[in-house]
Amino acid sequence: MNRPHPTFQPILHTTEFPHAKEQHGFALNMLQSLVIPTFVIDIDGKVILWNAACERLTGVLAREVLGTDNHWQAFYEERRPTLADLVIEGSRRPVDADASLESQNWCEMPRVGRRCFLAADASPIRDASGKLLAVVETLRDVTDEKRAQIALEQLATRDGLTGLANRRCFDDTLHAEWQRALRQQQPLSLLMVDVDNFKQYNDAYGHLGGDECLQRIATAVANEMRTNDLVARYGGEEFAVILPNQSLKGAAIVAERIRCRVEQLHLPNLGSQPHVVTVSIGAATALPSHDTEPSQLVATADSALYRAKHMGRNRISLPNTDLPGKA
Ligand code: GH3
Ligand code: MG
Ligand code: MG
Repeated sequence: MNRPHPTFQPILHTTEFPHAKEQHGFALNMLQSLVIPTFVIDIDGKVILWNAACERLTGVLAREVLGTDNHWQAFYEERRPTLADLVIEGSRRPVDADASLESQNWCEMPRVGRRCFLAADASPIRDASGKLLAVVETLRDVTDEKRAQIALEQLATRDGLTGLANRRCFDDTLHAEWQRALRQQQPLSLLMVDVDNFKQYNDAYGHLGGDECLQRIATAVANEMRTNDLVARYGGEEFAVILPNQSLKGAAIVAERIRCRVEQLHLPNLGSQPHVVTVSIGAATALPSHDTEPSQLVATADSALYRAKHMGRNRISLPNTDLPGKA
């Protein structure tokens, strides 16, 4: 981003301080007293100003960093350039010569011992002839705002009981993955997972016991997944799993793993056969095209799930094939 750059001349338009030395002292005092954490580095990357607000934010005192290029230690565990250093680096490339930079990122803040999300702005300071003299960086601690934003995003996309993706996130992801599979001409698979005889489980252990059971199942299913897969709570005691780039054969293997994993939790359910909590799973795969829709994939997986239930539960079912479970 290009912005008009500040210059040293003239710093002040005042008759109070007719002499340059007084002006300089006043300007330094002003920077020192600013409530905005601010530091300045010269073109060799050495700190020439580190104000009191910067000391408060970072826990690093001015006398520790002035005249050194150790200012990174105030923000990071390992040496890496601050935004001000990047402006100096950029000034060596003609194309970026006038660039101010802004960024927002998590900083470790080793001295204060807590991670902060900092918004930083760094701008070159030039003399009247345009020669680069220094770079000023100002900082804002926006950790609270960032945490609030993350919490809101969590609320919007996560299911409160299980921590899995919620139905809305499932719909958005299925749509996005469908588009991607269409572009890349890759298969997209979907599993619909439904807990068997869960009504009886609730009747036996109460609604809170049922909630706990759903949490255990959610964790077990999520642990079977690769990073690109998405497990969502589709609704009630039903989960959905999106498997990008997965053939029907691959999806069947994942489905069977999930079925076994849940069975092996050995959560007692006397109203069920084999007296433990089990799931039935319907799988479907599509090679997306322009005249098909993601809802068809859901419908196909749903029909397969219905067949698995019909065949006796605790089993997986694929379109046109039904595989026996261990019931
Ligand atoms: P099926 O094998 O045919 O799936 O039988 P089912 O008993 O699992 O299915 P049904 O649709 O008859 O009952 C689902 C039960 O799941 C009823 C409902 O109270 C319970 N349920 C849905 N959401 C929750 C939840 O968030 N917590 C608890 N504890 N129970 C839930
Ligand atoms: Mg059920
Ligand atoms: Mg159900």
